[in-house]
Amino acid sequence: NGVALREQAMIARRQKLLGPAYRLFYGNPVHLVRGEGVWLYDPDGNRYLDVYNNVASVGHCHPHVVAALSRQAAVLNTHTRYLNDTILDYAEKLLTYFPPELSHVMFTCTGSEANDLAFRAACSFTGGTGMIVTRLAYHGVTVAISEMSPSLGDGITLGKHVRTVPAPDLYRSGGEDVGTAMARHVRAAIEDMQAHGIRPAALLVDTIFSSDGVFSDPAGFLAPAVAAIREAGGLFIADEVQPGFGRTGEGMWGFTRHGLVPDMVTMGKPMGNGHPIAGMVAKPEILERFGSRTRYFNTFGGNPVSCAVGQAVLEVIEQEGLVANARETGAYLRAGFEALAQRFPIIGDVRGAGLFVGVELVTDRDRKIPATAETARLVNGLRERRVLISAAGPHANVLKIRPPLVFQQEHADLFLDAVAAELEAMTIG
Ligand code: PMP
Repeated sequence: NGVALREQAMIARRQKLLGPAYRLFYGNPVHLVRGEGVWLYDPDGNRYLDVYNNVASVGHCHPHVVAALSRQAAVLNTHTRYLNDTILDYAEKLLTYFPPELSHVMFTCTGSEANDLAFRAACSFTGGTGMIVTRLAYHGVTVAISEMSPSLGDGITLGKHVRTVPAPDLYRSGGEDVGTAMARHVRAAIEDMQAHGIRPAALLVDTIFSSDGVFSDPAGFLAPAVAAIREAGGLFIADEVQPGFGRTGEGMWGFTRHGLVPDMVTMGKPMGNGHPIAGMVAKPEILERFGSRTRYFNTFGGNPVSCAVGQAVLEVIEQEGLVANARETGAYLRAGFEALAQRFPIIGDVRGAGLFVGVELVTDRDRKIPATAETARLVNGLRERRVLISAAGPHANVLKIRPPLVFQQEHADLFLDAVAAELEAMTIG
């Protein structure tokens, strides 16, 4: 099956030690020992272009982040029940990137915990439990959040208080305004909840709809759905775990593109460039009841090392102009895919914002038939060319493209050349 002997032994060892729930990427899994910028290296010194990893967002092992981490680790690391400036300096800095209404921040270690906390705060503020998410949403691993993460598959039973709505898919909208359609679905979900005696708590969405298949346009389409949930007394929680920290190239957050101020925002992945720091930002009135009735303590969340790392990540984003780079290199990359679409009819749609790009592959452009098998072949073929991406969407036919934000035009060219070569080989083969 093309997997080398050494890696076969590692796969067997993983199965023996880690059990059956873990999944590896690619038919021929990649063995990595080192990372630097947009590059990942295997033990033989081969380098792989990382076009997928939105965690190491300012580049793998960025020296400024590594230095901040080691400096603070050598001085003090403890929890949030002592006074220490690191968390305050970081909180102050982080909040400057949000609209003034969002003036409290709470720290966790994972995006799942951040969403779990937002869910609890939404329930305590609204007195409801009803949650609306998109049909193929992923929000995390806790019991509460996995019950609102339908993309986990058939093994998950959605909560009785959870309703799903179709993702705002412009490519398949058939001409209907996606914002109006989404609001209509949200209203129907609210009515159904109410018919079952469930009070709405919140609409929770990933503002770039990554696992649903990457839906970005037209910017602003979320506003009518948010108005609908608010009319029913519910809140809007923006899950920025994937689009946050500059990836969309239009400010720091995906929700900015929709002209909205969320009631709460959750963050994770790129926040620590690989170090486990995550968090939740909220309007203070929403935390008032929650915070007065319960205490919050997260042993590792908000520790000085994590906060020093978070601060360093923000500094790199600013110093290296990474939001502008996401916008410019992202536009260049999408234009490159538009050009490939002229040559390869399998490319049905190119979408995205900044360095969050979705490319939908179809076997028939008119009927938009998902090219599921071909997408898997392309993703695996690119892996053999040492270019790493993945696929998303209900039919796994949308290339999910999210390189580190330090990705430059020269990297985009390497990537586009590899895609063209692989599509060419697939057409001939
Ligand atoms: N929300 C979204 C949109 C995510 O993509 C993820 C992780 N894939 C999470 C939440 C959960 O984050 P974590 O894995 O850090 O718990």
